[in-house]
Amino acid sequence: MINGQNVDRRTLMERSIPGRIGTVLPALDVPAQPLPQGEMLRDGLELPELAEPEIVRYFTLLSHLNFSIDTNFYPLGSCTMKYNPKVNDEMAFLPGFASLHPLQGQETTQGALKLLYLLQGYLAELTGMKGVSLASLAGAQGEFCGMLMIRAYHHERGDKERTRVAIPDSAHGTNPASAAMAGFDVVSVASDSRGNMDLEALKDVADSHLAGVMITQPNTLGLFDTNILELCDTVHRAGGLVYGDGANMNALLGRAKLASLGFDVVHLNLHKTFTTPHGGGGPGAGPVGVNDTLLPYLPAPVVGRQQENGGDSFSLTTPEKSIGKVCGFHGNFGVLVRAYTYIRSMGNTGLAEVSTNAVLNANYLMQSLKDIYYLPYDRTCMHEVVFSARDQKARDVRGLEIAKRLLDYGFHAPTMYFPLIVDEALMIEPTETENKETLDAFIEAMRAIDREVSEDPSLVNNAPHSTPVSRLDEARAARQPNLRG
Ligand SMILES: *Cc1c(COP(=O)(O)O)cnc(C)c1O
Repeated sequence: MINGQNVDRRTLMERSIPGRIGTVLPALDVPAQPLPQGEMLRDGLELPELAEPEIVRYFTLLSHLNFSIDTNFYPLGSCTMKYNPKVNDEMAFLPGFASLHPLQGQETTQGALKLLYLLQGYLAELTGMKGVSLASLAGAQGEFCGMLMIRAYHHERGDKERTRVAIPDSAHGTNPASAAMAGFDVVSVASDSRGNMDLEALKDVADSHLAGVMITQPNTLGLFDTNILELCDTVHRAGGLVYGDGANMNALLGRAKLASLGFDVVHLNLHKTFTTPHGGGGPGAGPVGVNDTLLPYLPAPVVGRQQENGGDSFSLTTPEKSIGKVCGFHGNFGVLVRAYTYIRSMGNTGLAEVSTNAVLNANYLMQSLKDIYYLPYDRTCMHEVVFSARDQKARDVRGLEIAKRLLDYGFHAPTMYFPLIVDEALMIEPTETENKETLDAFIEAMRAIDREVSEDPSLVNNAPHSTPVSRLDEARAARQPNLRG
């Protein structure tokens, strides 16, 4: 059953009836051609024979088996699964954008280049950074670019002893991975009792071997690190640079500029904050922004503007000491069009309202659930809140089970067991696009599940009961996917 309807689970082949067809081809109006010979043809290829409505129903059913933000609330912390306005897609599908070829001459793509140039400027304005490159295709790739730029900067100055990058223990897993891929040794820095990066622990590693620090603001506990100015200052005084992971920009949009917090280089996740449907690995864009120091190192291309005879022209440029190219062409253009459309349709005031409401919604959930779900860091949160299922675990139901049971209530699971420093973490990010009725229904579900934990723990421990498939072996599902079952 899905949405109260019986589901026909047969595959396309099982639905096939010999001789049934889905199209009627017109009579041949060209001479018939012989088929290619021998080994170019396959014999005995089994194809399903179905009429068009049956095909449409089958594929529509498949699309409903998946969970999406267009169907239900999706509070997957850190991922910013907010509603993606359809106007973004309409703009990205305009033939003038969608039909461009990346190898086309620049004189024929001035409109697209202008859009990229303007977007670079908007993102520089929103972050306060001096320059932006749109080339990177994901948040993690933006981090990697940032690390390569920091490395190039130190090497350029002959400072080759700086081999370490300090990262708080609350960080997203991509941070240490990116630093390691760029050749740095990662030093983990503890968080203090309020969830900030421990300033004293940072001071201990702020020496002549420190290349830089990666900080997420607000951090992955959903908390604004109130030591940020002093943290950045400590790193700078030791000769290092500060990388700001801006994936949580939904909390700050239109309110605070990352540059004014002390960051030298940042990335944004356009697919999260600036609304492109994402998940399952793509598509994404993770532009990087830099201050004056790192401007010459930006990845190529950066779109430049030339003013000639009163008119503007735009071209792809390579910064003087660029770390090089990080993707085949000019970045993930369709995602960039969507981000541009989003920024233009929201405007200054709209973007500031995004962060206001994202933070308000997260605090509403926090206040409404903290009497039942343990709150390890009990202070005002930003755009997301991290609970612990510690008290439910004491009644033999773990966070994983609670997340699975939420599916039966029609909600996507929150992020679980991350950040690593919270036992039984349930990380909930409601986003600004959910209304109060949805949040109240979610709160009611979380409270109902807690009652079930006391009254009928096996109901929760065997959930979900209403999804097309119940519990999967997640490791095997990823490595040996069964796409036909
Ligand atoms: C999502 C996220 C990233 C990585 O972004 P991808 O686009 O998935 O590579 C990095 N840091 C934080 C805090 C994130 O939430």
